[in-house]
Amino acid sequence: MKQVICPHCKGKVEVPELSNTVVCPYCSTTIQIPTGEISKEHYIMRTQFTLQQSRDRLFSWVVKQLGAPKGLDQKANIRDHRLVYWPFWVVGIKASSDYAGNQWKPDFSGSHSEKTSRTKIFLKSGHIDTHRDVFVPAHPGIPKHLRRFVIPTRRKEFFKRELVLDSGGFQEAVHVDRDKAVELAKGEVKEALLKEALKDVGVVNRIDYDVNVSAVFLVHVPVWHLRYSYSFKSYEALVDAASGRVIFSRFPMKLAYRASLIMNGVVQLVVGGGIGLAVLLVGLFVLPASIYAVAVDLFGLALGLGMLAFAMRYFITAFSLKSGVETAG
Ligand SMILES: [Zn+2]
Repeated sequence: MKQVICPHCKGKVEVPELSNTVVCPYCSTTIQIPTGEISKEHYIMRTQFTLQQSRDRLFSWVVKQLGAPKGLDQKANIRDHRLVYWPFWVVGIKASSDYAGNQWKPDFSGSHSEKTSRTKIFLKSGHIDTHRDVFVPAHPGIPKHLRRFVIPTRRKEFFKRELVLDSGGFQEAVHVDRDKAVELAKGEVKEALLKEALKDVGVVNRIDYDVNVSAVFLVHVPVWHLRYSYSFKSYEALVDAASGRVIFSRFPMKLAYRASLIMNGVVQLVVGGGIGLAVLLVGLFVLPASIYAVAVDLFGLALGLGMLAFAMRYFITAFSLKSGVETAG
C-alpha cells in the first residue's frame, strides 16, 4: 500500500494497489494518482432502493419471466446481499467522420438483348455526426451484465463518502485512469463511426475522424449483488440501487415449462427429420440416378439437419439453467 497526502486536508490517504484515483477518507476529496491533482468531476448515484425494496423489485420481475414459478415471490429468500459502488468513467464525445468508398451496384444500362447482368463500381462519400456518452468501466471486477447496462446518471450528485458509508455499501477502487478512459472512449466512437460508414458503402477507401471530448467525469454507481434461494437452489441477481431496475437475474424454470420445451423439440425432430428422411429416400430409390436425384438428397439432408438444430435449441433451453436479462429501456 502506497500513501499520499491529501492536497485538501493534509490527511494521509492509503492508495490500494493499481488504483489511479483515490478518495480521501477524511474530507471526501478525489485525488488523481500520481499527479496529486484534485478531481472535482467525481459523482455518485445515491442509493434510492433499500435491500427490502430491491428484493421486492427483483422477485416481482422474476415471476413475470416466461417459465418462472408463479409463487416464487412468496417462497424465495435472500441468502446473501452486498451493496457495491462500482466506478465508471463517463466520456462525452462529439465526433464526425468524412469517408469515401466503393459501392457495387447492378448495371442495367446495357441493351435488352444482352442478358448477362453486370455490376458497376460507384464512388460514394458521406459525412456522419455523433454525440454520445461512453461508459468506461474503471474496475476489472465490474460484472459483465453491468458493463452492458445503460446507467442513467442524470440524478448524479457530487461524491460524498458519507453516502457510501450511510447506505452500508462498499466503494470499489478506480483502476483505470482518466487518460486511458478517454483513449478507450475515443476508440469506441471511431469504431462505431467506421461501422456506420460501412453500412453506407461496401468498402471504405478513406475515412477521416474529428473526435472531441466534451466532458469527462467519474461516477460511482450503487448495485445490489443479491443471492436468493428457492427450493434448495440459489440464484444470483444484480439490481441497480439508484433506479431499482433489475440488471440481471438467474431464476428457476417450472418443470411444466421445461416439459413443453422438450415436447416441442421432439416434434421438430420427428416431423422435420421424417420429412428430411422421406425426401432423402425419394432421391435415393425413386428418382433415376442423376444430378437431380443428388440435389434432392442434399436438400433432404439439409432439411433434416436444420430441424435437428432447431430441436437442439429447445433441448438446450429446457435443460440449461434459465437466466434472464432485463435490457435497459
Ligand atoms: Zn482530505
